[in-house]
Amino acid sequence: QTNTDLPALARILGERDNFVICGHVSPDGDCIGSQLALMFALRLLGKTATCLLAKDEPIDVRLTFLPGSDEFIPAAAFQGVPSTFIAVDVPLKERMNSAAGHILDACEFSVTIDHHAVDERMTDLAYVDPAIASTTMLIWELAGLLGVERDARIAQCCYTGLVTDTGRFQYQNTDAPALAAAAQMVEAGATPADVSRHIFQSRSLPSIELEALAIERMHLGAHGAYALSWIEQADYARTGAVKADGEPLIDVLRSLRGVRVACMLRDQGDSVRGSFRAKDDTDVAALARTLGGGGHRAAAGFTVSGPMVAAVARIEDLLTEMLEESADSSAQNTGEHAS
Ligand code: 5GP
Ligand code: MN
Ligand code: MN
Repeated sequence: QTNTDLPALARILGERDNFVICGHVSPDGDCIGSQLALMFALRLLGKTATCLLAKDEPIDVRLTFLPGSDEFIPAAAFQGVPSTFIAVDVPLKERMNSAAGHILDACEFSVTIDHHAVDERMTDLAYVDPAIASTTMLIWELAGLLGVERDARIAQCCYTGLVTDTGRFQYQNTDAPALAAAAQMVEAGATPADVSRHIFQSRSLPSIELEALAIERMHLGAHGAYALSWIEQADYARTGAVKADGEPLIDVLRSLRGVRVACMLRDQGDSVRGSFRAKDDTDVAALARTLGGGGHRAAAGFTVSGPMVAAVARIEDLLTEMLEESADSSAQNTGEHAS
């Protein structure tokens, strides 16, 4: 769906003014980091730029240390008609919200900057590179092309997106360009220890309590090739946890030896929200697409209708089928099977 490149985008953005920058619902570090870094870069050029929340929801408290994070405006509350809509870290209207979609439709010109592979294009111009580890790497490059000084704020926001989308430089997308970009960001003023302390070393007590529940409930299947667990609505009330407190739990499931795919489910009342992570070359985006979702090869998500027991049964069937089918070849390829 790419129909431009970053130098052309930099030229075109430089000629425009009055931007809104929007990401996806349940914004993560890459989404928030991309939005803020681009907002700062455009403002350094003297432009008007506003960050929108696709949905009226609180920003994950772990990300509120980022400069500018208090400036987000829910799309539904946004007044006025900007000239240019920039979507970052989000390729599809379905991953925004109707309010954000309406603003996109009202803008005379629109741009996507992203690393999610999809077939459609929702904006006039799109630069999408699925090979890149984080959208903030693209924003970092774009800021350089815009000719602004990539200051410590921009560096911190971009580094945050990179460290979160690579799972602290541990996932399969951690490559030489990602590490080289991280080094540039640190040289420009990003502080990895602060970012890690805020994001990874500041979990709430309810989040740890949710983790205990998730571990207690964990199902292992396909001879230990998948680990699956879930959080029920009552768990939030019982522990005092908020939605973001459930985000780290999938990493616990994936850390178990022999696990090739981790799946974490969350009861949303009328629907079940799910996340997949693959530790080998299993394509969980394909699996998520069969459930109406999508994402990256090694990290994907979806929403299915409830109740939880039915969702668990359906997803365990899919995982068993997929992982037992590929067990032989994968064990040879990765050597990551349990011994
Ligand atoms: P998470 O598990 O962190 O919510 O999502 C993992 C990845 O999958 C993210 O990069 C996100 O873009 C993608 N993803 C999550 N949920 C959905 C969904 O419902 N639809 C699509 N197309 N992608 C999703
Ligand atoms: Mn994201
Ligand atoms: Mn991303």
